[in-house]
Amino acid sequence: MNKPKKCDECGKPFPVSGRIPKEIRAMLDKVTTCSECLVIKLEQANKRLLMKQFLSKAQWPNGAICQRRANDITSDYHYTESAAQAVCRMLERDGLGGEGKIFPIKTWIENCQNKVLND
Ligand SMILES: [Zn+2]
Repeated sequence: MNKPKKCDECGKPFPVSGRIPKEIRAMLDKVTTCSECLVIKLEQANKRLLMKQFLSKAQWPNGAICQRRANDITSDYHYTESAAQAVCRMLERDGLGGEGKIFPIKTWIENCQNKVLND
């Protein structure tokens, strides 16, 4: 029996019926939202990616990371300022690659919200 599912988001029942190949049906069993809500969810996931706006940066001793690099600075994008802070703290505490051998000269956080979000 193909009984309609209820969307987790809007509560509307949506059909899971017709001739659906077995492999796809298994996937559909995991889907808990109607197609409209699914699209919205995907858009939100996209937005979240764009919201990766905090940059954790670390400056390393000369040549410590890679000699071919133009500078000795590494950086990483994060969703939240606290996540960026956590990375900086970790680098200060555990050093490059967590090996406790090479430590950054300094670490800092940049908020690049305006550069990343253009809409
Ligand atoms: Zn829905």
